[in-house]
Amino acid sequence: MSISQNYEDSYLHKGLRKQLLDSIREKGIKDERVLEAMDRVPRHFFLDTAFQQVAYQDRPFEILGKQTISHPYTVAFQTALLEVKKYDKVLEIGTGSAYQSCILAEMGAQVFTIERVKDLYQFISNDFPFIKRYPTIKRFFQDGFIGLATYAPFDKILITAGAPYIPQALTEQLKPGGIMVVPVGEKESQTMLKITKAADGTLHQEERGDFYFVPMLEGKTT
Ligand code: SAH
Repeated sequence: MSISQNYEDSYLHKGLRKQLLDSIREKGIKDERVLEAMDRVPRHFFLDTAFQQVAYQDRPFEILGKQTISHPYTVAFQTALLEVKKYDKVLEIGTGSAYQSCILAEMGAQVFTIERVKDLYQFISNDFPFIKRYPTIKRFFQDGFIGLATYAPFDKILITAGAPYIPQALTEQLKPGGIMVVPVGEKESQTMLKITKAADGTLHQEERGDFYFVPMLEGKTT
């Protein structure tokens, strides 16, 4: 599979990006560090050239393998909940287009991102030169339900697919004091959960509204 991409960031794209970020700010995102990172990552680089003109609308788009690049507001919302700090070790489930991974890397995080769809993993690794700008992003082809025990513990864990339940392997890989953001629910929409792990290992969760994600599925494709 291949898509046609354009890696030129014109004044038009920059202007459209500012407008998008203003609209996200108006919808209540206060974390300027998140918005600055989104300003530095041209979203149209992640989409087929057919979507160039609309890349800065606040809506999701289909990418390879019938997956989606998330709604920009959702990316901003999840990233803000994660309270990303420079040098944080962040585990992301659902690489997809790698847009979210690049936002996390722009914020100074060391990113470990997992994708279960082989075509997507291979596309990002072999046919997406922009990713080379971020040597702090490490990519893995595997089932995110299992996580990455070898690299654990993580300061932050972000799930960018709708999880049927909170995967226990992942809460175990979260550092005490860490934060995990996960949309949970199997049906039409998911409830965004912000889970914090106390120093003694106990988990606390807060509900932060309803969102829609493609499902988090078990296993990986061949
Ligand atoms: N973060 C992505 C969002 C992609 S949509 C972006 O910024 O573009 C969600 C992604 O999660 C899809 O690519 C899907 O294949 C992947 N996914 C679903 N279940 C998964 C699992 N168990 N492990 C890893 N990735 C998974």
